Amino acid sequence: RTDPVPLDDIPVWTPAGGSEPARCQRNEKLDQKISLYSGDITKLEIDAIVNAANKSLLGGGGVDGAIHRVAGPMLKKECASLHGCETGEAKITCGYGLPAKHVIHTVGPIAQGGVGEQERAALRSCYRNSLKTATDHAARSVAFPCISTGIYGYPPEQAVHEALATVREYLDAHDDKVDRVVFCVFLPTDKDLYLQNLPLYFPAA
Ligand code: ADP
Repeated sequence: RTDPVPLDDIPVWTPAGGSEPARCQRNEKLDQKISLYSGDITKLEIDAIVNAANKSLLGGGGVDGAIHRVAGPMLKKECASLHGCETGEAKITCGYGLPAKHVIHTVGPIAQGGVGEQERAALRSCYRNSLKTATDHAARSVAFPCISTGIYGYPPEQAVHEALATVREYLDAHDDKVDRVVFCVFLPTDKDLYLQNLPLYFPAA
């Protein structure tokens, strides 16, 4: 679809049982706070979308390219004033031509040389610092792409656990600051991974 997608049109993920044992206990306060959305993150009418940027923050391929194309040249101008971003950190800008109010730019680890503890910790920092940045700016609904799993080469079947575990941890501590976290998947294989693993981190019991 080409129109913006309002947050109210995105269904909430209902806690469910999975095929594997859950890795956390149910937290009822988090019911209604998680969504899985399959499609283009640039369509989402939400407080903030997260960009899987590179350290320069001056634009690139993948989701970064898509976000800059829709946001327009003013986004690049604001990004240029930020003096880049370190791996695992996050910086916020306006959304300009996007239906999202803000863009939170985070830089995922490059994992083409394999995933070690450093890459794992950096990926977790991306999710945690993006949510913290959203909270600091009173953005209560945030959509994430699958950070680092495209050009940066992080194996999606490992990244999904870091994404879900880190968001769960943040929400356990700050549920009053967040209304919704949307996991925005672009590839059918990522949708399957999230459907399979959401019940481990947001279980029904
Ligand atoms: P990275 O450099 O961090 O790996 P990429 O942009 O290459 O970032 O890929 C990150 C993820 O974003 C991949 O799963 C890719 O399929 C996905 N992606 C690409 N375009 C979009 C889009 N318009 N909306 C949401 N996700 C997207």
